[in-house]
Amino acid sequence: MQLVERSHQRSDIVCYLPKYEVVVCTECHYVLNKSPSIGRHLISTHLWSKAEATAVDQQFNDKAIRSPNHPNCTWILPNH
Ligand SMILES: [Zn+2]
Repeated sequence: MQLVERSHQRSDIVCYLPKYEVVVCTECHYVLNKSPSIGRHLISTHLWSKAEATAVDQQFNDKAIRSPNHPNCTWILPNH
């Protein structure tokens, strides 16, 4: 059995898609609203510490982010 160690410092968990101007959580494929919702998602869903979540959140401060009008709307994450 192979154990995979999961770090809470995976800042690549959140991915910006410039084509759609959205930020996506790659772990749950949720489209996130802009700051501070990105950090809030990491804290509430992935149990990150506030400091780590805020650091990731702030990486996207200068990005154009289109927030989905409906929180439950489903977006399709393109495969790479
Ligand atoms: Zn997530």
